[in-house]
Amino acid sequence: MREVAETAARGGPLLVNAATGAGKTVATIAPLLEHAVRADHKILYLVRTHSQEIQVLHEARAISHRLDRPILAVGLQGRARRCFLLENVAEMKGATAEEHGKLCADRKRATERALKGEAPVAPPAELPEDGEIDLTDLDGCPYYARVVQSDLEALIERFSEQLPAPHEFEKYSRDENLCAYELSKRLVPSAHLVTAPYAFFFHPHIRRSLLDWMRVAPDRVDLVVDEAHNLPNHLRELATVALPQESVRRARQEIADRGDFQLPDGPSASRFLDIVGAAVEELIHALAREDDAVLPPGVFEDALLTAIGGTSHRFDTWLGALATWGENLREERRRERHLPRSWVHTVALTLLSWPQLEAPAYVKVATRLPRPALEAYSLDASAAARPILDCHLSVHLSGTLAPLAEYRDALGLGERARLLDVPSPFPAEHRRYLYDPSVTTRFEELRTDPRAIARIADRVAEVIQALPVKTAVFFPSFDLMQKVLEAGLQSQLPANAFIEYSKIPMGDLWRSIEAWKSAPGSSVLVGVAGGRLAEGIDYPDEELEAVVLVGIPYPRPTAKREALREYVDAQTGKGWEYTVEAPAERAILQALGRMIRSEHDRGIAIVLDKRAPKFAHALPGLTEMGDLAATARQFYGRRPRWSRPAPRPPSPEGPPDAAVGPHNE
Ligand code: SF4
Repeated sequence: MREVAETAARGGPLLVNAATGAGKTVATIAPLLEHAVRADHKILYLVRTHSQEIQVLHEARAISHRLDRPILAVGLQGRARRCFLLENVAEMKGATAEEHGKLCADRKRATERALKGEAPVAPPAELPEDGEIDLTDLDGCPYYARVVQSDLEALIERFSEQLPAPHEFEKYSRDENLCAYELSKRLVPSAHLVTAPYAFFFHPHIRRSLLDWMRVAPDRVDLVVDEAHNLPNHLRELATVALPQESVRRARQEIADRGDFQLPDGPSASRFLDIVGAAVEELIHALAREDDAVLPPGVFEDALLTAIGGTSHRFDTWLGALATWGENLREERRRERHLPRSWVHTVALTLLSWPQLEAPAYVKVATRLPRPALEAYSLDASAAARPILDCHLSVHLSGTLAPLAEYRDALGLGERARLLDVPSPFPAEHRRYLYDPSVTTRFEELRTDPRAIARIADRVAEVIQALPVKTAVFFPSFDLMQKVLEAGLQSQLPANAFIEYSKIPMGDLWRSIEAWKSAPGSSVLVGVAGGRLAEGIDYPDEELEAVVLVGIPYPRPTAKREALREYVDAQTGKGWEYTVEAPAERAILQALGRMIRSEHDRGIAIVLDKRAPKFAHALPGLTEMGDLAATARQFYGRRPRWSRPAPRPPSPEGPPDAAVGPHNE
């Protein structure tokens, strides 16, 4: 709290690495609220997940109850979550924020005209509660009309007293037929604290709107980034430009549906797109044998110019013509009250920007996964992070932010940034770190030793048999997980074990995991480090008391990863350390840290890999496993064990998707 208070007075970035459950959120919000009220600043708290948002608003509510004056905290979410009018419209599935924003703007204008009595058509009073509705049936928006007509002062007073959690706010809005999105926007100018997903601040257009709604200049914003270890990758993805094969195919189809036309002194639009599609496909096919491959400089541009037979100047003229045609189509669709989308427009803009996305900040790759595409992958997170430095201060929080200097350098936060590594406040005797030097998932050994996988399966089975508590087993990849299950582990799991297959929808996963957590007695959970069970879900108390990590979860060795390593090496001389070892360490700590979330939690964490001592600095007291049954008896006391089960039938979920999740070294 003292560090945050000093940062509030001084300004600039503060980077905090502190264990989950240590109180980072409250220790940040309390002094910042005091400062924001005194200095007339606003706190913008960026979150990555819905559960973080709930946590922040929960802490704000607790602080507010201790103050003599109410504070208003507002949680923002995108329209996709909060638009009640269009949530059942089939056409909206997959709409971008920009497309949704245009549709919403038209309906708001129609509503305002209707409310002023200028438009003949009043907004529809009622909408079907369930089922799909046709977008073209809708003119105004009744939910917006209710917001415009509501008593804003009374609502501000109500929400300042109650500080509702996001789901409570959404329920109130729905019950009152108020648009939750527009209502939260109108509350924001009066709020001391605003939570929002990362994109609200880092997407340039949305940031401008957000600061307008908040009615502050950046130098009066006190910024907090939660789960900040995700931010560098988030920013790289944001700046990355992709040309998926599927987008070109849809653009070609759009031309076929609407009628072909001639580009100025050039080929027809359909022939142009055929050539683009063929060049994309050929490069992916020729180069990307594994996940992805680096494109030689200029190879895509050369392939297009050779096939079309033009100059780059004429090429740009044709792209300009396609972009204009696409823009007209978007407007036409908008006038017809359809989703304002044109694939031709998207493809033309991507191709126009392509030559500017050059080394060293970008690497161009052909990718097979997650979808066939050409990509200009952004290696530099610092350009998109620049707006952070315009804020009065920024506090970056995570339980796995170390090495802090890497985060600072990746975002270009400069030497002014203060680095704060807070030791774990939890009793050291509540946690044992062990490792097994008899196995490894090292690529070379798995490749050359035909018995290696079966040995891992046997070892995992022995280990979980010795642990009389709820245990999670995390693998470095779905691919290896499946191989080890098939090599004999599956038949040795208890009947109530839960296995995380990558294709389980999120809702089903949550329900299954809640059922697993609340089931009495010991059991086993099998998943992937870096996957949904190993990050983002908490298992307090006896919901999880042991974690077994099979191997070291090094990031997948893709062409993009290698280019990033070289880029970081050129910048800092620490390419391997920052882009390979640091992500592996974070994935280890995220996975092993699942079971210790408060001072009451206890557990044994085991790394089944002889390379574990490399990460000993992050795993205090790491020792060889030795007699695990004896250690477990001593640590947990005597507890009943699950009995060996009958062989399990194959999962109805089908085999996991080998492409998802991190990868073995
Ligand atoms: S005003 Fe709200 S409910 Fe209406 S279209 Fe816009 S986002 Fe949707």
